[in-house]
Amino acid sequence: MAKIPINIATGSLQKEEIIVGIDLGTTNSLVSIIHPDSKQAVALKEHDGSSLVPSVIYFDDKGNVTVGEAALRYLISAPQQTIFSAKRLMGKSYHDVKDKSVFYGYKIIDDNSENLVKVQVAGKFYSPIELSAFILKELKQRAEHILKTPVTRAVITVPAYFNDAQRNGTRDAGKLAGLDVLRIINEPTAASLAYGIGLKTNEDKTIAVYDLGGGTFDVSILSITDAVFDVLSTNGNTYLGGDDMDNAIVQYWLQKNQLNADQEPGKSYRKSLRIKAEEAKKHLSQNEQFTANDPNLDLLITQKEFNALIQPLVDETITCCQNALKDAGLTAKDIDAVVMVGGSTRVPLVKNSVSEFFGKPVNDSLNPDEVVSLGAAIQADVLAGNNKDILLLDITPLSLGIETAGGLMDVLIPRNSKIPSKAARQYTTQVDGQSSMRISVYQGERDLVNDNRKLAEFNLKGIPAMPAGLAKIEISFTINADGILNVTAKELRSQVEQSIEIKPQYGITDAEVEKMLLDSITHAQEDIANRALAEAKTEGEQLLKTTERFLQKNVSQLTALELKNTAEAMQALQLSLSLNDKNLVHTKIEELNNISKPYAERIMDNALSSAMKGKSIA
Ligand code: AMP
Repeated sequence: MAKIPINIATGSLQKEEIIVGIDLGTTNSLVSIIHPDSKQAVALKEHDGSSLVPSVIYFDDKGNVTVGEAALRYLISAPQQTIFSAKRLMGKSYHDVKDKSVFYGYKIIDDNSENLVKVQVAGKFYSPIELSAFILKELKQRAEHILKTPVTRAVITVPAYFNDAQRNGTRDAGKLAGLDVLRIINEPTAASLAYGIGLKTNEDKTIAVYDLGGGTFDVSILSITDAVFDVLSTNGNTYLGGDDMDNAIVQYWLQKNQLNADQEPGKSYRKSLRIKAEEAKKHLSQNEQFTANDPNLDLLITQKEFNALIQPLVDETITCCQNALKDAGLTAKDIDAVVMVGGSTRVPLVKNSVSEFFGKPVNDSLNPDEVVSLGAAIQADVLAGNNKDILLLDITPLSLGIETAGGLMDVLIPRNSKIPSKAARQYTTQVDGQSSMRISVYQGERDLVNDNRKLAEFNLKGIPAMPAGLAKIEISFTINADGILNVTAKELRSQVEQSIEIKPQYGITDAEVEKMLLDSITHAQEDIANRALAEAKTEGEQLLKTTERFLQKNVSQLTALELKNTAEAMQALQLSLSLNDKNLVHTKIEELNNISKPYAERIMDNALSSAMKGKSIA
């Protein structure tokens, strides 16, 4: 099984082409390549020497999109139109993010459901996939500008703790940005590759990757055997980082100048203090003390004072390292190498504490902001077959998945996965009492199964009768070393099971594979739009069903006006389902939700209080 490099412009086979490595970060993103002459990984830089692109998107009133430094400026002046930290929303539902919703200055749709979050700017709804795609598109364009050549293929990194949905979302974002995503790799894996760890096939190592950025911290323990990386454990705090150090300095200065909460300076002054605090922190990474000229305040801070301020924060990260080791069943002695990632690892106290904890010097010679993307470029080069020293493991040339509601392709094993490979996901029934489920297996990169290649189909029969959504049907895909795919469907409550064996590569030529890949890129925009529309329609249909069921049960508790408004909103939603307008469907879903929410809450409260009646609280 071979990888098929294609030239998107001509559609022809191409042997050597620059494939970029992309670190799609929460705060900053960047692109690296293997330099064609030096064969070394380098980060692409703008004229001003900066490689980092802030992961911020600004939508102006006309709907124009700006990404990067230019968008960052609107964060304070137009928070509702400026999206940051989109990565934190990837693959999440409103339920997952509602506790932190004040953190975001923009509107996240509260649909009170488990559906994936959407962000609303003016009258438009954006998924985190679309938002990430804006960033990736900008990175692609910048890279093309710097390299003076089309950039069409990429390796993108994600945190080790990203689940399937978050990985697929990132892959889709790449596609939407016009990129052929060769592989999604873990950030710690990339960082370790950047240090040359895990490149050789006869290497057996256990490593720790400590990643402290501006707003997030994570630590991963990886085992590497014959160039195959395995994540043994991850730990961290997604709301801990360099920003907290800046805040600690601001607090320290306020205290030092005896300003209490009531006398605190105004918003813009606070902002300038924060900027000075970050400057101080960076200065203290190399100097014993910092002071800034300020007519009113004493802004002196020494490294010793700074260390005392951030000690609790550093201690917390070390506790996370301890927990990660424990989860992996290891001790610090078992770790062969420690890799440092993220701008905040430049702080000497951080470096020293990590080194002391693991009992060895840390790998910190590379720029900690760039290591992840450098490693992604190295992986890209290996996948391109340019690095002849490294053995390429067999991989799947096309993605494998099944058909789900709305005729969508749900990928279980993405293309370019190494074989043997295994993946499983749970599904459920859509109709009450459903006793069988049709499993259709497809191969290809398109979002609608109709555009992909059908490999097989079978029926899982004998599912015991139960209400829709209760059955737990696990579909597992296993590809053995010979490339044979085994698909098994199992209802977990009753253990009924059915399976089938397929040869995915049977009867397909390299040229056909190449055409399928090319089609997936040229049709990416319409594919993602189709998927978003199909998902919106499925969500709308589900909402209509649940609202109907709710009304049947509770009709007596609704006022005539509520009934009338609900009926109208349901009708409008129903009508929107027949039109091909995703934003309209979302708007109608939101309208129906807004109407039903107050009475749904009231009825729930009533039910709760009548259930409480008669129960004595001892
Ligand atoms: P990242 O999210 O990996 O880009 O890391 C950004 C964080 O690193 C921010 O909080 C920066 O203030 C911090 N940072 C960058 N340079 C330094 C430095 N020289 N010393 C301390 N912190 C730094």
